[in-house]
Amino acid sequence: MKIVKETNTFCPKCNKHTPHVVNIYSKKPELTFNMGKRRRERKLQGYVGKVKGQAKVKKVSKKQKVILECKECKYSVERVIGTRTKKKLEIKR
Ligand SMILES: [Zn+2]
Repeated sequence: MKIVKETNTFCPKCNKHTPHVVNIYSKKPELTFNMGKRRRERKLQGYVGKVKGQAKVKKVSKKQKVILECKECKYSVERVIGTRTKKKLEIKR
């Protein structure tokens, strides 16, 4: 799926339509030493029976996210493009 690199859309901070720069969202790597995460991993290893929050079905597709940055005030918002798809987003040059 190809998307344009610049678009004119509503900015909640400027309260009007302004040109925005489009960037593809990429997830930052999660920290592994958080206490909650360590506890959950220990739980998932076993010895406790059924674990709450364990995914039964793994989803095949992902929601494609885009970050729009206002050119005037540099405020950025996330936006989901379409629904769940296997297609990857590309910025049109
Ligand atoms: Zn703005």
